[in-house]
Amino acid sequence: MEPHLIELPRKILVGKGVIGKVKEMCDALQLSGTPLVLSGKSTLGIAGKNVIAQFPDTLSDIVNEATMEEAKRIREAVKGEPAFVIAVGGGKVIDIGKVVSSGFSIPLVSVPTAPSHDGIVSERGSIKKNGAKHSIRAKPPVAVVADISILMNAPPRMIAAGAADVISNCSAVNDWRLARNRGEYYSDYAADLAILSAEIVMRSARSIRDGQERGIRNLMEALISSGICMSLAGTSSSGSGADHMFSHALDALGSKALHGEQCGVGCIIMSYLQEKGWKMVRDALKEVGAPTTAKGLGVSEEMVIEALLKAKDVRKRYTILDEKPMTRELAEEACKATGVFD
Ligand SMILES: [Zn+2]
Repeated sequence: MEPHLIELPRKILVGKGVIGKVKEMCDALQLSGTPLVLSGKSTLGIAGKNVIAQFPDTLSDIVNEATMEEAKRIREAVKGEPAFVIAVGGGKVIDIGKVVSSGFSIPLVSVPTAPSHDGIVSERGSIKKNGAKHSIRAKPPVAVVADISILMNAPPRMIAAGAADVISNCSAVNDWRLARNRGEYYSDYAADLAILSAEIVMRSARSIRDGQERGIRNLMEALISSGICMSLAGTSSSGSGADHMFSHALDALGSKALHGEQCGVGCIIMSYLQEKGWKMVRDALKEVGAPTTAKGLGVSEEMVIEALLKAKDVRKRYTILDEKPMTRELAEEACKATGVFD
């Protein structure tokens, strides 16, 4: 087996009220100098200002969108030399944080304000370039500060989407096993840990939906754990199979649904094709309040079929779509059988 390098965050702090400990964490990691604090328009007030107030001196900017152009704008707008980046916000802000910190070759501290997807700790980011979404590889954050009080107050739709993203590990790992059977690299440890994360989220579905502390903590830890699985494996295969390819295809067709929402519906359809527990997946998504139908995603049935037909070409990764080539008939059959078309 080829050797590979595993890069992981050094400190992860999860708990109520830990937003006040960002500086303390940075000190403990010997991150000194002026940080560049990135936040979003609304997350600035929720958490960004709190973080800025902890440091005697900061550079700061607001992230408007997750595009390469925006990352470039921020890099050029920085007056001074930041020693590290602190990204305070949702997926967009953290994705831009990854690009900007990599660009400056400085560390990143991730302070998520919504448990909306597993990119919070992973080395992957999703960035638009010339209108199309790209998965980029950067360094994972050196530290993560996840304040449960803030995460509990995130919009319910984002919370449900985060849960759906973790649940989609089920079909992703099944795809990865198909690749393993053909002799491709596979990590037993990363795969089993990714499944465990999905199981914990499915078990906690009710308390996640109700926004209870225990549920949100379980979800946050599952998102962190899912991100770590990808770092352990050195590939995103433990959390991203044909379910994610379907989501990327929907993005390209102009869907406005959230990443996790699309991956959840993708997971139902791919689990059906894999003949592996699609009902369990659908029921868990329903229980957590995530969409399970085309209507729920706010897209037409035709768009879902188009996305299923295009999914295989999104990236080179062996999945169920290689074993069961998608046709319009199969797409319709799968969507009708699983209730994605109701
Ligand atoms: Zn995802």
